[in-house]
Amino acid sequence: MKVFKFGGASVKDAQGVKNVATVLQKTEEEDLVVVVSAMGKMTNALEGVVTRYFKEPGSYRESQQLLLDYHLPILKELFNNASHPIFSRLQELVTELGQFLQQNKSTNHAFVYDQVVCFGELISTSIVSAYLNHVGIANTWLDVRNCIITDNKYRDAKVDWEVTQQNISNKVSKQGITVTQGFLGAEGNNNFTTTLGREGSDYTAAIFAYCLNADGVIIWKDVPGVLNADPRYFSKTTLLNQISYREAIELAFYGASVIHPKTLQPLQRKEIPLFVKSFLNPLDEGTCVGKGVTLEPMVSCFILKRNQVLISLSSLDFNFMMEDHIGNVFKWLHEFKMKVELIQNSAISFSVCVDNKYDTLEPLLNKLRSTFKVRWNENVTLYTIRHAQPKQIKALVKDKELLLKQESRGTVQLVVKE
Ligand code: ADP
Ligand code: ASP
Ligand code: MG
Repeated sequence: MKVFKFGGASVKDAQGVKNVATVLQKTEEEDLVVVVSAMGKMTNALEGVVTRYFKEPGSYRESQQLLLDYHLPILKELFNNASHPIFSRLQELVTELGQFLQQNKSTNHAFVYDQVVCFGELISTSIVSAYLNHVGIANTWLDVRNCIITDNKYRDAKVDWEVTQQNISNKVSKQGITVTQGFLGAEGNNNFTTTLGREGSDYTAAIFAYCLNADGVIIWKDVPGVLNADPRYFSKTTLLNQISYREAIELAFYGASVIHPKTLQPLQRKEIPLFVKSFLNPLDEGTCVGKGVTLEPMVSCFILKRNQVLISLSSLDFNFMMEDHIGNVFKWLHEFKMKVELIQNSAISFSVCVDNKYDTLEPLLNKLRSTFKVRWNENVTLYTIRHAQPKQIKALVKDKELLLKQESRGTVQLVVKE
């Protein structure tokens, strides 16, 4: 059996949902777990619902309307019969969101976030599952929260592998088609919904593949596979036919956003291949991540991360400073959930390039100022180049202000102001 994952872009509208059926028909796989993300940019929209909830707690009706406005037209296009049970299912889920927003007493932002954003996946999978059944592709809808059990670190929950393995072995059939939600889990004590981190549906697919000893995972994308650079920023790109697990982990770690970084480790442990393929040309080869050659073809790979923050610390009296305080710096970076992308240390200064994902820069800077002289640049871009050639680096930094460069075996990183 195999695991398929359809991301937001593949199910952004009715046409996308119809295309899921086409992909299943063309690939002719009969035993599948199909992991589906929220439709289009629904998770971003639901993040907006959370923000609004904390500003005006009474505003639940607009939030319900937002879900209806997006999904109802899709339902109408997919099902010409308005008495199909999926219409009341959508209404039920929308009511459930409204009830949560009205009754919730918790002020824990991350907790509320997970209880709200989950509706994106609950709705998308209900629609996809109903549509597939409607067109004769029999399948079972599974609430992933009965299978993937996590700790209670909301928004970034850690999987309890032992319980999850047991649940999946007991509850998921290796035969036939199961449709379930990416990104979601449930915390073990009270069954509250948790999420695995933004873009976490790839990881969900890997969890199922690992626990079911699947023959492969296929993530369906709006690109032909993994390219050597993000096509949104680079006009000339090359399709990578084959990537080793190790190289793919490096690419994902540095931010090649086409694969979620946590996805590869469970697959590598059981040597389950991961394919990245185009949902528009499902029979094309795409990219295979697996055992074997590092990269085929062997080309340089470019990863770009915008909106990073470069923070440079030096001691208030220009002493050699870092050893005494370095522990605190890491403690605070961790406390404020800053994702560290790059570190550079010199005699009198220490620089880190971080991703301010959770909007915690201000409090972090305040902490740092108690011990250090702090300089920082916001909105910088981090380029990571694997297997770089010197002339490419030169071309890349042309017309840009280079703030920091770091070179290690196989990898060059540049922080620039564009
Ligand atoms: P999903 O619908 O699964 O969430 P994403 O939008 O997260 O899909 O990922 C697909 C997008 O990733 C592509 O449209 C492309 O713009 C971007 N991307 C970034 N880096 C790469 C890369 N190296 N190869 C292919 N696509 C990439
Ligand atoms: N819907 C979630 C997100 O947008 C998870 C995913 O798409 O993988 O982050
Ligand atoms: Mg995505």
